[in-house]
Amino acid sequence: MSRFPQAQFLISAAAPAQFPADRGAEVAFVGRSNAGKSSAINALTQRQGLARTSKTPGRTRLLNFFDLGSDRRIVDLPGYGYASAPEHERLAWKPMTNVLRERRSLRGLFVIVDSRRGVTDGDEGLLDWAAPEHHIHVLLSKADKLNRSDAGKVLRESKAALGERGTVQLFSAHARTGIEEAQAVLEAWLAERGD
Ligand code: GDP
Repeated sequence: MSRFPQAQFLISAAAPAQFPADRGAEVAFVGRSNAGKSSAINALTQRQGLARTSKTPGRTRLLNFFDLGSDRRIVDLPGYGYASAPEHERLAWKPMTNVLRERRSLRGLFVIVDSRRGVTDGDEGLLDWAAPEHHIHVLLSKADKLNRSDAGKVLRESKAALGERGTVQLFSAHARTGIEEAQAVLEAWLAERGD
């Protein structure tokens, strides 16, 4: 049974004025381009094709909001909003992500990282972006591509890199591993009341 049976696309916002009302709770999904973010959103919401919108040409500068019902949302941030993006892209992106970060609804970040890479120093800009009150959970994606020993190693190393700042798990949208664990984290954050 789906945990988010009402999941549906809400809006692609080009400016903060288009963001949905800052009510309830939302979780932002971030990751480098091709990390497996869309696949993760589809797997977690059990709605194939839900996150396809973010791939539409010309829409990569938009923040995509998905409604999970009961004033709960996922916010999909296109990959290049990442710390390693070229300066001009980061500048264009900043006003929108600054507003997002200030929203009372924002509970935390799901960071999608290719498990063959793991959490590295290059991810620090992103972890710094989150405010101290924001949760951070890392999905080490495409874990089906690793053998058990390499998967264990990347999990340990990513845990060490994150320290107290966040939690991390192995995830595979294709092999459908780690989905329940990730859904439970998402659901728990979204159930938290704002201040
Ligand atoms: P995004 O750019 O971060 O949204 O990434 P996508 O979800 O579009 O995935 C990028 C590529 O990685 C696609 O070719 C997917 O088929 C592939 N991919 C995504 N998730 C998995 C996974 O769990 N296992 C494997 N092996 N490939 C995956």
